[in-house]
Amino acid sequence: MQQYIVDILRLSIWLVLLMAFFIPIERLFSQHKQKILRNEFFIDLAYYFINSLLPKLLLVVPISLLAYFLHSFLHSDFYVWMANMPVKRRLLLTLVVGEFGTYWGHRWSHEIPFLWRFHSIHHSATEMDWLVNTRAHPLDMFFTRICGLIPIYLLGLAQPSANEVDMVPIFYTLFGTVWSFVIHANVCWRFGFLEKIISTPAFHHWHHTNDSPEYIDKNYAAIFPWMDKIFGSFYLPKNRWPEKYGIDAPTSNTLVGQLLQPLEVK
Ligand SMILES: [Zn+2]
Ligand SMILES: [Zn+2]
Repeated sequence: MQQYIVDILRLSIWLVLLMAFFIPIERLFSQHKQKILRNEFFIDLAYYFINSLLPKLLLVVPISLLAYFLHSFLHSDFYVWMANMPVKRRLLLTLVVGEFGTYWGHRWSHEIPFLWRFHSIHHSATEMDWLVNTRAHPLDMFFTRICGLIPIYLLGLAQPSANEVDMVPIFYTLFGTVWSFVIHANVCWRFGFLEKIISTPAFHHWHHTNDSPEYIDKNYAAIFPWMDKIFGSFYLPKNRWPEKYGIDAPTSNTLVGQLLQPLEVK
């Protein structure tokens, strides 16, 4: 219980920092004119706390089991070699390998109807801003996270060491979390050729578009857009932005309704 109170306090401090950064930036460089307290802002604020606490809790047991199970696949010498790799190289490899898993987890969430039931909550946002990042069903978040972590554990890129803290998975999680807020932000910035190397708001905004069916199911990557280039789902016009966001299917406008909606028998 005490740990929960500490977690909520820590999350509240992060929230204040995120607000202090994104709210003025989105006022100064907005791509779409909209209110700070836009449609369902407070529901997404509730998701911020739910999704920062719940998926992490749900992941503890499966990840420990996975780490144990996956390590029996490859020879132990391979894991020793991986653990001794220079930190910078291991970090880059972790980002790429994690992104590969996340890309496919995210793509399956669009292509497999049962998974789409959960993921569609994230896509039901009709206005984009930094906080839309947190708008997700906890089981959707759990699934994509586990897809990113499986290849990382399989290759031994994350393994808790007995006498030192492994900074690689910590940096991976922190960078991934912060970057996810950036790519949802309502900012008009464009970055030229860099947009093909690292994901940007324009790149992810096209993932959320509801302009026309031809633009749907593009840009699944969270960090590296070239993952979409490789697997044929990249779409990023030079100077255009989406006009409409969201999905056509009706979504409940209450938090409880959204949490229960994917579980309804159709
Ligand atoms: Zn999606
Ligand atoms: Zn998104």
